[in-house]
Amino acid sequence: MPETKLIKSRGTVTIDVEHCKGCELCIPACPPQVLTMSAAVNRMGYRYPELHPGCTGCAACLLVCPDFVFEVFRFNEARIDEVPA
Ligand code: SF4
Ligand code: SF4
Repeated sequence: MPETKLIKSRGTVTIDVEHCKGCELCIPACPPQVLTMSAAVNRMGYRYPELHPGCTGCAACLLVCPDFVFEVFRFNEARIDEVPA
């Protein structure tokens, strides 16, 4: 059985990959480390972040991204998600 953990999440994000310029600032900015850079590139030729399970909706990525790639959606109530450890 793969290891899992429970996380409290207030929301999630969408990633507008076509506007990403591949600076990678968002990768270390994400506290639960659920963003990794893609192997594929967008139409401008840049790799972009991909979201893995465990986003807490903290908005750190939105604040650090110079190109407004992230949009944060808040859930009506915080929820508990089971994600890979
Ligand atoms: S909202 Fe927070 S947890 Fe979710 S991807 Fe952005 S930095 Fe990571
Ligand atoms: S911070 Fe923004 S522009 Fe930079 S890699 Fe992340 S999504 Fe792309």
